[in-house]
Amino acid sequence: MLLLRKQTDSEQDIDEEDLSEEAPEEEEEKLYCAKCGRLITKGTWRISMSGGHEHTFFNPSGMIFKLFCFKEAPGVRGQGAPSSEFTWFKGYKWQVVHCASCSKQMGWRFMGSRAPRVFFALIQSKLINRKPE
Ligand SMILES: [Zn+2]
Repeated sequence: MLLLRKQTDSEQDIDEEDLSEEAPEEEEEKLYCAKCGRLITKGTWRISMSGGHEHTFFNPSGMIFKLFCFKEAPGVRGQGAPSSEFTWFKGYKWQVVHCASCSKQMGWRFMGSRAPRVFFALIQSKLINRKPE
């Protein structure tokens, strides 16, 4: 039997490290409201929008927000009519979203006509990754 091996450029050889190290049992990442501890979203719902999962934006009054994008955020509730003013994501209207338990503003829901039709940009500092005691 003839084995054909593709010659690779040694400089681009990928060092195949032994990755068999035992992976810790994967626990689903959950993100909670930093104020009241309500479950807001999960790590598996992280998405990339406009080239990144993380974004830093200024609002028209100069406040800076560091945001993470998610395709789902069952722990928040939208408020107010969608607006396209000063939108951070081209083609999307936004609506403020609050924690469904404590009403703290968590970020924004974005709605557009192209996929994904809806996604959430949540403020990093309003989320914690463990349930408060
Ligand atoms: Zn809350």
